[in-house]
Amino acid sequence: MLQHCSLLAPRSNEKSSEPLWYATSSEAPEAGSLVAARVWRGVIDADPALIGDLVSANHILFRHGIVDAFGHVSVRDGERPGRFFLARNMAPALVAAGDVMAFGLDGTPEAGDGRPPYLERFIHGSIYRARPDVGAVVHSHAASVIPFGVVRSVALRPVFHMSSFLGGPVPVFEIRDAAGPDNDLMVRDEPLGDALAAVLGAGPAVLMRGHGATVVGADVRQAVFRAIYTSANAGLQAESMRLGEVTFLSGEETARSAVTNAGQVERAWSLWRREAQG
Ligand code: MN
Repeated sequence: MLQHCSLLAPRSNEKSSEPLWYATSSEAPEAGSLVAARVWRGVIDADPALIGDLVSANHILFRHGIVDAFGHVSVRDGERPGRFFLARNMAPALVAAGDVMAFGLDGTPEAGDGRPPYLERFIHGSIYRARPDVGAVVHSHAASVIPFGVVRSVALRPVFHMSSFLGGPVPVFEIRDAAGPDNDLMVRDEPLGDALAAVLGAGPAVLMRGHGATVVGADVRQAVFRAIYTSANAGLQAESMRLGEVTFLSGEETARSAVTNAGQVERAWSLWRREAQG
């Protein structure tokens, strides 16, 4: 087994005939196959820093309790906007660079990559297709947001300044509207992905009734920031509502605070990435 395969130095390995791509993976599926080598090249053709951020995002989201064994985060290929990167089907905390797969926006894995993908990859592809401004997507089952998806009379709204990016009430995706009563709550195909993207609209987040939430950002760092503070807002709002009448951020406060916070993502990211490494 090779010890030094790293996306930080991919070119040095390119001439090797060995399938190096899995050397950073927690598993080594189909070792030795030409398909594996081709897939590896496809992924490293992306900006290595982008894949590095995607791996960090997986670990950060786990450390902050946004994802557990389930949930996933993707990033759009900035050079080829018609594809995105997402780990193979596995627990986010265990994701390494070699686990990243490339997908078309219809959810099809890039040529010949036979590794099992996430069932709900259509969430990502449909949102990227509908939203050219979106560069990253986080889908999670964070427990804190579930109540706001199932209680019709209460909307998730910005209750503190760190979640001002929410802008206002977060829409709820009712999968029965798209899939009918005989559904398993999974966004398991393109039509369901498109239906979810339609409810997301132009916003930063959508709740999924009885399931979880999907949060988007211009890049993966912003998407992680938003996913973490969407969950924080949900916990704080639920706790506040138990205590009494809640004063939410006004529209003007929300707008002004969102502008102020937009430049602060890096401060959080640098801390969270270091935490996740330790
Ligand atoms: Mn899910």
